[in-house]
Amino acid sequence: MPHVKTLPNSGVFLSHFAINAIYRASEGEGVHVGTPQVFVRFQGCAIGCVNCDSIDTWDFNAGERLSLEQVLAQVIEQGGEELRRVSITGGDPLHPKLYPQVLELARTLKRKGYWINLEAAGTRVVDELFDIIDYISFDYKTPSTGVRTNPQLIARLAQQFPRKFQVKSVIENRQDFDDTVKAREFVRSLSKNCEVFPWVLTPAFNLGEAMPFKRVLDVITWNEIENTGFRVITQQHKILHGSEKKRV
Ligand code: SF4
Repeated sequence: MPHVKTLPNSGVFLSHFAINAIYRASEGEGVHVGTPQVFVRFQGCAIGCVNCDSIDTWDFNAGERLSLEQVLAQVIEQGGEELRRVSITGGDPLHPKLYPQVLELARTLKRKGYWINLEAAGTRVVDELFDIIDYISFDYKTPSTGVRTNPQLIARLAQQFPRKFQVKSVIENRQDFDDTVKAREFVRSLSKNCEVFPWVLTPAFNLGEAMPFKRVLDVITWNEIENTGFRVITQQHKILHGSEKKRV
């Protein structure tokens, strides 16, 4: 008998969760770098960043189909009883095909006392979910990704979710950096009375590349000279394990 649940008040039937991988590792990027947690990586993404390092998560029909109970069992298996920190990632966990599953998982984990980070691709702000989770890592997509983020969404986060989010931008080149500076100025103009929030520049570390020292140094130098207030944080897991290793 397949596991079938109804999401309360939604009319959405959840028979499975589309999962790419569930594993324990330390956060590799952003302001929480180095913090151990359990990653729940959902399967499916239609955004299509040209420099995506997780193309294996794109196909909505790939991965595993797990019941909620199976997802929870794997989270506990990976984290034990003591590590109650989960990062929900993808793929694109906010895609409408995955969102009901993500909301159900987040509600359940919160009831069990977990701290939850969500990796959001920068395309949607979803109050219902953002209200209950603990932290939102929101992408501002730069020109080199081939995808654009509406900066008004970041201004909305600043107004609605102060102290609860970071913005992350992958910087491949100077055009990405200048574009991010402009976006930040635009967001500031829309959210003048809001608290300052962390905006992280992640120097691109592309698949198959060795550690891109020059790019990292360039981004650090631009950031120092321009006095932007960004933080430059490299992808620690790629420095340690190489650009292609999964589940680290
Ligand atoms: S949103 Fe994430 S998973 Fe989707 S294409 Fe972009 S980088 Fe890849």
